[in-house]
Amino acid sequence: MGTLRRDRVPARVRSGEKVLPEQARVHNRELLLRTLYREGPHSRADLARRTGLTRVSVSDVVSDLLADDLVVEVGTRAGTRPGKPAMMLEFNEHAYQAIAVDLSHSTLYRGAVLDLGGSVVARQQVEIEGSTGADALAKVVGLVGVLREQVTAPLLGIGIGTPGIVDLGGVVLSAPNLGWKDLNLRSVLTEQFGCPVVVSNDANATALAERSYGESAADTLLVRVGVGVGAGLLLGGTPVLGSRFAAGEIGHVVVDTGSERACVCGKFGCLETWLSTRRIQEDLSEARTDAEHTRVLAAAGEALGSVLAPIVAAINVSEIVLSGPHRVLEGPLAAAAMETIRQRALTEVHGDIVLRLSELGDDIVLRGATAMVMSQQLGIA
Ligand SMILES: [Zn+2]
Repeated sequence: MGTLRRDRVPARVRSGEKVLPEQARVHNRELLLRTLYREGPHSRADLARRTGLTRVSVSDVVSDLLADDLVVEVGTRAGTRPGKPAMMLEFNEHAYQAIAVDLSHSTLYRGAVLDLGGSVVARQQVEIEGSTGADALAKVVGLVGVLREQVTAPLLGIGIGTPGIVDLGGVVLSAPNLGWKDLNLRSVLTEQFGCPVVVSNDANATALAERSYGESAADTLLVRVGVGVGAGLLLGGTPVLGSRFAAGEIGHVVVDTGSERACVCGKFGCLETWLSTRRIQEDLSEARTDAEHTRVLAAAGEALGSVLAPIVAAINVSEIVLSGPHRVLEGPLAAAAMETIRQRALTEVHGDIVLRLSELGDDIVLRGATAMVMSQQLGIA
């Protein structure tokens, strides 16, 4: 088996358009696959009841999914009614693998081969050593090449999570710390490896990982704290990218116009000058007492809360998830962020807002990149 056939890539059905038989088939296929992926094993009859499709349609599409190995039969379940016991069907996490790469760290690029359940099959990483521009690109291509050799199932595609602004065509419009501007990363990798490639902003990939593998609600604001600070926004489970693909770029919102904290962007008092991992470490290294230590973290949390409060007020999001180093984010920082949001937004109108730390750990961007590939190729995740 090779890569998944391109002719299976779903043609999306938009409401109001005339639905052609082939589109209906793709739609039904995605619907059944999504049901099995999200809700666990079902019989064919369960699937028909759950989705409203006819039994004939279900059997027909299931035959295709079995042939593609995306669904497997896992034995019978004794029926509650007399007659033949029902054969149960399960989404097959091991049918395909994806290559995922995370470019959001300051010293190395991390990559992995993952199965469709988000489990890591193999890992590789490469030191950045100050590379930018063409050198950085060569390192990414090299990393994917090494991972390609470690894939042990048909390859579904390659997913890349990168800092910066990325358009829907996989062009990195701007990623200052990688030295990339208008780089068509998707086409470079597609040409090199001959398989589907998805490129996305790291915070958006993180938000998708929380949705697919974590506990997140359909309306979630995810804040990723690393070399920079960015946010990924999901509304109704769908990522919000913005009209120029820069939604969630909150790192350079000025928190304090009178501040003398210089930012890499040239302004003063940006959120990143309190919250990027590098700046927090610098501030903490100057703290002499426990009380000062706590004050540094609380100040970072307050800066974050002051940027998030108007967002919460504008979109009435009910959940905020922080992703990054737990030892920094938990405790005084998270508490101060929540308290500032409570003070600044009319929280009784917005209900019980939950602010929590992501539990997905260091692989969150890699898992998000895998979810992006699954979403594009299979219409699930
Ligand atoms: Zn800035």
